[in-house]
Amino acid sequence: MADKIPYKTYLTEEEMPTQWYNVRADMKQKPAPLLNPGTGKPMTAEELSGVFCEELVKQELDNDTPYIDIPREIQDFYRMYRPSPLVRAYCLEKALDTPAKIYYKFEGNNTSGSHKLNSAIAQAYYAKKQGLKGVTTETGAGQWGTALSMACAYLGLDCKVYMVKVSYEQKPFRREVMRTYGAEVTPSPSDTTEVGRKILAEHPGTTGSLGCAISEAVEVAVSTEGYRYVLGSVLNQVLLHQSIIGLETHAAFKKIGVKPDVIIGCAGGGSNLGGLIAPFMGEKLRGEADYRIIAVEPASCPSFTRGKYAYDFCDTGKVCPLAKMYTLGSGFIPSANHAGGLRYHGMSSTLSELYDQKLMEAVSVEQTSVFAAAQQFARVEGILPAPESSHAIRVAINEALRCKQTGEEETILFGLTGTGYFDMVAYQKFNDGTMTDYIPTDEELEKSFATLPKIG
Ligand SMILES: *Cc1c(COP(=O)(O)O)cnc(C)c1O
Repeated sequence: MADKIPYKTYLTEEEMPTQWYNVRADMKQKPAPLLNPGTGKPMTAEELSGVFCEELVKQELDNDTPYIDIPREIQDFYRMYRPSPLVRAYCLEKALDTPAKIYYKFEGNNTSGSHKLNSAIAQAYYAKKQGLKGVTTETGAGQWGTALSMACAYLGLDCKVYMVKVSYEQKPFRREVMRTYGAEVTPSPSDTTEVGRKILAEHPGTTGSLGCAISEAVEVAVSTEGYRYVLGSVLNQVLLHQSIIGLETHAAFKKIGVKPDVIIGCAGGGSNLGGLIAPFMGEKLRGEADYRIIAVEPASCPSFTRGKYAYDFCDTGKVCPLAKMYTLGSGFIPSANHAGGLRYHGMSSTLSELYDQKLMEAVSVEQTSVFAAAQQFARVEGILPAPESSHAIRVAINEALRCKQTGEEETILFGLTGTGYFDMVAYQKFNDGTMTDYIPTDEELEKSFATLPKIG
């Protein structure tokens, strides 16, 4: 191969970013503010500080500071598992017989198995610095809960995790990893909270949802002395911390003299995609460069492609502030056959605003095609990808096949957010040929849109 690009490009420790990048600073039209559901007014720092740590509230509300220093302690933690590699997918290119050049940024090289640790350590650090005893959170598939447990164990913080009941039962090993790191894990909805008891009474036998688990975790945080709530995605602060992914990628590309044409990421709440694209979107917003940016979501939970851009509740119990975002309605629960993660009803306000301004595209894909891409990728590139990440793989392969048709030598970058070792039940269904697809009907979506609060 004439190409001299290495299989893997790493930054040296000296080249590692020392600041996060806040893309909101370069947005002319800022993301819509969080609203107090009682007054309909933007949430103040004071109101938010009952739920979140003070420093994180500052980051959440900061639409103007482009670069924010990464505290030394967080940089040190990052160095245990970062930089992550930027990989040239030579083997996949060959298998696809495409003239496209494919790169992926691999975030699965830590025990949590995903990018979530990048924000978990930051949020735990600020909680510790504020002198708190512990934090509460929800987890769906389990990666966020695992990441937060690891960060809390490292810093000596207490960690209470509300885990969506269906995952708690289907993924006992995930649960044990969290407990090994010292977290207390409760299946949600539970009878340990008022909102949990209410949800159980209204929907007996429910297997839970992220929205329910968030409500429970928030209730415990605001009603327990010395605790705050932390969230693994969706929020501006999480996208800020995840910008480490994009900053490393940007620097690694610079090192090898390459510029991507297309940037692809899976989108659940938007944190990995928001982080990966951050510096590239910054260049786009400042008119310095142009990129095609594609968010990929499951056809069974299509917030961007079929959702409404509106203020909505972030949680089922409606205890959280309202966020303006692309949403399917807070009551939306993906069909039971959906195995691939990315099941949150809404989307980051920052990404929602960028999407609304047509600065990025979105596509939805069905899960059997996602797992077919995962299998193809695993067989040629070696890594067993998380189902979430495989949404991005699907579209990266589709784009590479488009290049094969047209003969274009485009450079495609995608975010490989994690590994799929805890998702073998889903892989088993795919391997057995029993996995099915489900696309919600317009009527189903209309039903959940009807639950949107009437605001603005
Ligand atoms: C949580 C998770 C996602 C989706 O969350 P985002 O906030 O949209 O990034 C994607 N991939 C993996 C491996 C995850 O753990």
